[in-house]
Parts: sequence; C-alpha cells; structure tokens
Amino acid sequence: MNKERLLDTFLDLVKIYSPSRNEINAMKYVVERLEKLGVKYILHDHSSEYGGNTPVIIAKLEKNSDDESLKPISLSAHIDVVEPSKDLDVYVEDGLVKTRTATTLGGDDKGGVAIILETFESLVESNLPHSDVFAVITPSEEVGLLGAKSIKWEEIPQDFMPSKDMLVLDNGGGCDTVAVEGPCMYKINVHYEGLSSHAGIEPEKGRSAIVAMSNAISKMKIGRINDHTTSNIGSIVSEFPTNVVPKDCKIRMEVRCLNEDEAKENVDNYVNIFEETAKDFEVKCDINIEYDYPPLKQIDGNILLNRVLDAYKKVGVKSRPIKIGGGCDGNIYLKNGFNSVILGVGMYKIHTIEEYLVIADMEKTLEAVLEFIAK
Ligand SMILES: [Zn+2]
Repeated sequence: MNKERLLDTFLDLVKIYSPSRNEINAMKYVVERLEKLGVKYILHDHSSEYGGNTPVIIAKLEKNSDDESLKPISLSAHIDVVEPSKDLDVYVEDGLVKTRTATTLGGDDKGGVAIILETFESLVESNLPHSDVFAVITPSEEVGLLGAKSIKWEEIPQDFMPSKDMLVLDNGGGCDTVAVEGPCMYKINVHYEGLSSHAGIEPEKGRSAIVAMSNAISKMKIGRINDHTTSNIGSIVSEFPTNVVPKDCKIRMEVRCLNEDEAKENVDNYVNIFEETAKDFEVKCDINIEYDYPPLKQIDGNILLNRVLDAYKKVGVKSRPIKIGGGCDGNIYLKNGFNSVILGVGMYKIHTIEEYLVIADMEKTLEAVLEFIAK
C-alpha cells in the first residue's frame, strides 16, 4: 500500500463538490482511476427515479489466483457528502484532515472511497494472490440510502454480481470500530385537518389542528425509548396568520429499533395516539407509514465478522464489534442476501462542520482490508 497515494486520493475526492443527488463529478474521478488501473466496471443508472444524476459503480478486479482458500469479497462506500460542503478549504495538521471553512469534510464517506481505490491500486501493483474483488460505490446514501435502493440486482450481469460478503467502509469513529448490528427504520407522516375560523370573532367554530397535534405529542415518549429503540420528530408544519384558527398541521417522525417486531409495536403505539387524539379533537387524521429499511444484522453465523476481526488482529488492531444507531447501504444490501460488516474509516464528528479524519485510522483500515483480501 502507498500511504501518500491514499491521502492524495482522499484530498482529491473531498475537493470535488458532490452533494447527494449531484455526485457526477466525483464519480467521474473514480471512473478515471479505475480505467487507468484496468479494473473493469459497469455503471448502473436509475438515479433519475429519485432526482439524481449519478450511476452506481460496480467494479471488479478479477482474481489472479485459483487458490481455493482465497474468497471473493465486495467493498462498498458512498460518494455523496452531507451539506454544507461547497468550496471547502481542506488542510492536513498533526495527522488529521480538517477544513478551514464552515463545511463538512466529506470523510463520510470519501474516506471509504479512497480506501477502495487504494485497495485496487495496491493489489494491481503488488500482484499478491487474491480472489475476485468487487466494489459497489453508491450515490445519494445520505438522503435515505437512495443509490443502494435504486439498484435492480436482476439487471446486473452475472459476471459483475458482487460477492455476498460485503465490507462497507462507512462507519464513524476509528479503525477499531466494526459495526455488526443496526436498527431498522420507520417513517411516520401525519396530517391533521381541522377547521378554520376567525380566531377573534368565532374561535369556537374552528378546530385547531395545532392544538390537536400538540396534545397528541404530549402523550408520546420521544427520543430514547430504551437501549435499542429511538424516535424523533423532525418537522411540524402549520402556517396560518394568528387571527385564523389553523386548519392543517403536518408532522414527520421516525422510529428506529434493532428489533423489527418491536419497531412495529412502537409505530402502532404512535399511530394509536394520533388516531385517538384526532377523534377527541374532531380533526381528520391521515397517516402514512413507510418502512424505510430493515435492521442490519449478521446472517452468516458471524463467519465474515470473524475473518474481519482476524485480519484486524494481524495488523495489530484490537477491534470492537458494536451496534450502531444509524442506517447505511448495508441495511439495503441485506434484503438481497448480502452480509455486511461496517468498518470504521477514521472519520469523526460526521454530519457536522467540525468533521475531521484521522489519517492513521484510514491507513490502518486499508491495511486490514488488504490483509483480509490478499495472502
Ligand atoms: Zn456515510
């Protein structure tokens, strides 16, 4: 592996503006690198379905050995970045990559993409024996895993079908964090419709959707429900002049839980409260529930996880399998039978303008990935 090239790749990538739904320039950079290396790839594009402009890349470095003990593997990362990320001014100091600008760094997840590119570079350069190595690089992960969701696996040519063993390079924290379990997520959208009237002349003729909605919320437990369940209200919208009893109020919330059945129970509980309160306040209630993604879990009896932990150990890292509270592309791949382990790439304070990346962590994860792949 070439540490300097890894860092250069990372710096190149974060300088390319690539917010969700508009990652095309960053993806072009990846494609150019793959072409130079002679790594085959396909562009799989259904991004117009969600208003994006960038295909998913599925790349494949063909095996150079028939050694049966070497197994094919898939690597995955996403190329979109949380805003604000435009015109970022990036610098390196004391082993950290930071920005001078009030922007995210985009280590989430260009750290992962840089590791994938350097994995290919290193394997091609060293010619160490390895099996097939696939990479799935997605756009629009940060806005609901849209890139991964858009993949129509039945359209992928057989020889580009990635290995079901997937290392997703997209975990916050150091190289020692290995996420193996994560929650499923439900989205709940509710619209209360009451009746408007003049707030000063005849308020008793109106039915306030805001009053009804706030009453419903007051009956709910929101936030951390228990050690494996959370919920959050992200938006309440009702916009009327103060002299009008507000007819409409809309709310958007989410529920996450490591356990699928329990998640559903919590959702049912919220729905009940919304419906009962609507009855009490005589407002119409329209509820829309979306099952956004299933929980992340290990479906191969921890075989992949144990191989990963072993590779980390060999490069001198004692890694910690953890549960996480967020979703990632791995949750989506699971639906199609891919078993994912999510590796830390050294990004910290992600989704904030204080985001930074620890170079040594990115290097160590690369080392572990190479140790895992090549013998
Ligand atoms: Zn990410």
